[in-house]
Amino acid sequence: MNILLVEDEDGLRAALVKELEDEGWKADAAANGEDGLGMLLSGIYDLAVLDIMLPGIDGLQILARIRSAGMTTPVILLTALDRVDDKVRGMDGGADDYLTKPFDLRELKARIRMVLRRHGGSAADNDLHLGSVTLGCDSCVLSDASTGKSIRLAGREFQLMEYLMRNHSRVLSREMITEKIWGFDSEAEYNNVDVYISFIRKKLAYIGADVRIRAVRGIGYILETEK
Ligand code: CA
Repeated sequence: MNILLVEDEDGLRAALVKELEDEGWKADAAANGEDGLGMLLSGIYDLAVLDIMLPGIDGLQILARIRSAGMTTPVILLTALDRVDDKVRGMDGGADDYLTKPFDLRELKARIRMVLRRHGGSAADNDLHLGSVTLGCDSCVLSDASTGKSIRLAGREFQLMEYLMRNHSRVLSREMITEKIWGFDSEAEYNNVDVYISFIRKKLAYIGADVRIRAVRGIGYILETEK
């Protein structure tokens, strides 16, 4: 579970990152709206916690920008007590929840779990579907309902296929895929991506899938249904 936190108060940002990582989530943080927006648009995050009051691009603007880009990433807003209008604008703007500062860190974690459950991000029955293909998120089994065939995906293959299915019909660059699967600090090279894509393609072919991973020259890959 990758969480992005955008918060300009250094102390709070550090405390929140630590708290989220103690919970077993992977947390990245940005100290301003511009960085936060750029990181969020990479598509690698499962959830974002955005402070509304930020220097430069504020939390509501980040929310508006990602929603207008078609991203459904769940967002929890952090608002100041005296800014009721912000809450209303945030929820109208597509936020999933909000918390009023100051808040208990346990409260934030509870809200995160609730929002993720609602989005099926950590629930037990969160299988992903595209065309007649299903990816079982607990079983790591890839199957095609029309051929009845299935095959298990190994760790990285599963993570990559899950990322592709959650972002199907969208071009994902090799950089985005590398960051999502191997992490920002990884030494992994972009050709790892090509190798794992080829593994998944073989498995898609084996189950007779009606979806395919198409290479987009010079950029990366897109998962789409066969036309
Ligand atoms: Ca702030």
